[in-house]
Amino acid sequence: MPRDRLGLRPREQYRELEVELLLGARVVELDLERRAIVLESGRRAAWDLLCIATGSTARRLDGFEDAIYLRELPEAERLREVLERGERLHVVGAGFIGCEVAAAARERGCDVTMFEALAQPMQRVLGPELGDYLAGVHGEHGVVLRLSEAPAPELERPVAVGVGSSPRVELAVAAGIEVDGGILVDELGRTSVPDVYAAGDATRFWSPLFEERIRIEHFQTAQRQGFAVGRAMAGKGAPFAEAPWFWSDQYDVNVQYAGAGLAWEETVTRGAFGKPPFSVFYLRRGAMIGVAGINDHHTVARARRVMEARAAITRDQLADPGFDLRQALR
Ligand SMILES: Cc1cc2nc3c(=O)[nH]c(=O)nc-3n(C[C@H](O)[C@H](O)[C@H](O)COP(=O)(O)OP(=O)(O)OC[C@H]3O[C@@H](n4cnc5c(N)ncnc54)[C@H](O)[C@@H]3O)c2cc1C
Repeated sequence: MPRDRLGLRPREQYRELEVELLLGARVVELDLERRAIVLESGRRAAWDLLCIATGSTARRLDGFEDAIYLRELPEAERLREVLERGERLHVVGAGFIGCEVAAAARERGCDVTMFEALAQPMQRVLGPELGDYLAGVHGEHGVVLRLSEAPAPELERPVAVGVGSSPRVELAVAAGIEVDGGILVDELGRTSVPDVYAAGDATRFWSPLFEERIRIEHFQTAQRQGFAVGRAMAGKGAPFAEAPWFWSDQYDVNVQYAGAGLAWEETVTRGAFGKPPFSVFYLRRGAMIGVAGINDHHTVARARRVMEARAAITRDQLADPGFDLRQALR
């Protein structure tokens, strides 16, 4: 995609919304006492309400300081050059980013070796069975997988590293706002300090749906929770109680997941495992807390609604492709 198509909105839309957009303006301090923010330039700006939406940063690996870490645009452009030249590529980390990079590189004819510390790709969220299935998909497409293995820093370059992200919380910590694996906020985005809100990847928010705090690193949640927090700041808040949802395209395989990546006790499969379309439901204390589908968009979309409605559904109904999940909503 060309650079000029990447902006979220054209500049004039901010003007129409009466939003003053300051670019290249890094905030270096949240002065809670005087209700102001301080910019790197020294400029101060007063606020009545504040929202911290500083996102996250890519986790760095020791010995791989010169690797490609996907977060900022220049890094994406660096990766594109590697792919366009069809260079041999090493990928460290077989999570979503690593797997997508590997698939994109293979489709452009690069030789790819991917290292993963766990026993399977994407195991943390999807579990060992689906991880094993995806290992097979990458293997069939010619990726050399080195599982349960951390590479030595001498690994031949170029290397793309995707080993997770950390919430950007430095400003909040320095200001004394409560932080624990993300800026802690409630279901309306309120932090521990009155009139200070936070939204997006930087937060760990209370989910009334899962009845625990969750941290999500996907744009659909950052956007939807962002809307909810904005409304709350405008005094029209309703708790954000949606089930997070994301998808990933790798070759001709579309992986969709709804849920918060929480630990589960058992899984139920719908369809023939390994022969798409099929889905896997993740259950805790008999209740569905997640669903992953392989080329099975409808099942994930419907299961997500069942989850959000906390509708009762049996294991047999989940496993039966003839049972329309929407019936559970009636
Ligand atoms: C390579 C990659 C691929 C991804 N692919 C997917 C995907 O396919 N699907 C999906 O759902 N999600 C994906 N994600 C995750 C998604 O991008 C994030 O969940 C989303 O961008 C989070 O939005 P946010 O607004 O919370 O934070 P960000 O989008 O990170 O925005 C935070 C902004 O705050 C700015 N900022 C930080 N500190 C300061 C400061 N002190 N002063 C001023 N500004 C500051 C940053 O420059 C940044 O622009 C991907 C992420 C990466 C890195």
